[in-house]
Amino acid sequence: MRFLILFLALLSLVRAAENQPNFVVIFCDDLGYGDLGCFGNPTIKTPNLDRMAQEGQKWTQFYVADPVCTPSRAGLLTGRYPIRNGMSSAKRVVFFPDSAGGLPQGEVTIAEVLKQKNYATGAVGKWHLGHLPQFLPIAQGFDSYYGIPYSNDMDIIQGAENYRKGAEDPFFYPDTMNYDVPLMQDDKVIERPANQNTITRRYTEKAIEYIKDNQEHPFFLYLAHSLPHIPLFASEQFRGKSIRGLYGDVLEEIDWGVGRVLQTIRDLDLDEKTIVVFTTDNGPWLAFKTHGGSAGPLRAGKGTTFEGGQRVPTIFWSPGRFPPGTVSEMGSTLDLLPTFASFAGVKGPSDRKMDGFDLSKTLMTKAKSPREEFHYWTRAKLHAVRSGPWKLHVQQRESINYGKVVHLDKPELYNLETDISEAYDVADTHPELVRRLLKMIKKHEADTADSLPDQLAARIPTP
Ligand code: MG
Repeated sequence: MRFLILFLALLSLVRAAENQPNFVVIFCDDLGYGDLGCFGNPTIKTPNLDRMAQEGQKWTQFYVADPVCTPSRAGLLTGRYPIRNGMSSAKRVVFFPDSAGGLPQGEVTIAEVLKQKNYATGAVGKWHLGHLPQFLPIAQGFDSYYGIPYSNDMDIIQGAENYRKGAEDPFFYPDTMNYDVPLMQDDKVIERPANQNTITRRYTEKAIEYIKDNQEHPFFLYLAHSLPHIPLFASEQFRGKSIRGLYGDVLEEIDWGVGRVLQTIRDLDLDEKTIVVFTTDNGPWLAFKTHGGSAGPLRAGKGTTFEGGQRVPTIFWSPGRFPPGTVSEMGSTLDLLPTFASFAGVKGPSDRKMDGFDLSKTLMTKAKSPREEFHYWTRAKLHAVRSGPWKLHVQQRESINYGKVVHLDKPELYNLETDISEAYDVADTHPELVRRLLKMIKKHEADTADSLPDQLAARIPTP
């Protein structure tokens, strides 16, 4: 009898584990809305992502929580607008090698949520949520980490700064030795400067190794490529191959890596047990001309709250679970935490304000998305709000490279369904809508007034 009870208990554990899907998030850096074949790019070849989109769901109205790296990543991992956890700052745009702060330990990441159900959790790639030991992935719910802790253009060596200034210079044919960025394993530096020429291939290999090592139990793998953020690097096999130039080479290598990861999942018979999401942290860095990506039909790019800064090309893939097709419903990286929690049968944090919606029903049945609004924050300021098809801007930053913020005395209203490029302001003909959306902005500002203080401003004291 005792054996039978033990057997049944074990069986129910195995069953529970079987119902818990694996999660893989493949996150790019500064990839544009118009950079993938399946999102309309005519010259960059992305056959693996195109296949992923064909077998899965292409989401065309998917948003990141902020148009730059650090706050966007905080939003994805915590399901909270970065203003709430002090990760959106008026003083410093992102974390730098001299930053003393990080994502506060009291914040709950997707990895920590899934740990409640004993998920194995691994992070590979760019982190950018604090590089000091107490802020690294292994202090935020991940069992292991392999990657570059901040942006690949940081720790620039003395004398190489000029490379950034003009277009016709070595910056456009970057030398990996000019960026003294560390490559880390858990909390140890294992290579410095990291050889960025081979970094995409090495991240891919690490991801595959991680999946193979953890195939017997549920896992969450966060694979955050440090490219195509400038400076651009590709391994020899890809360099000089794309007619789009070096940027195309870089993306074609990332696409190859996505193909390898998905094939590994298929080969291990995990495809029906795994949910893979492909997306990016913000739009293209347009100041770098052909070394930056393309936002396609969207206005502006990285650093702005126009669609080009925050609407990102997104693919969900889970054969047998998600019916294939294009989804024009609204979604956000803020929604990944509650969505994964729902699939894993676990609860997210209930002791704080959360900003994500559970998209599981929309993913499985193409039902209407529970997300009907989105707030566009950057540098600790609320710039715009979207409700249904309508987007109202009260502030904006037009420049392609972090230009001045312009406060609009007269708010601008766009219909994103009929005017994807935010070209035609219709505020004059819709005063009642302007009033309603202004009220939403006021309400959201009041709701975020109790946010944590700025975590980005503090610097490591110089001796
Ligand atoms: Mg970025």
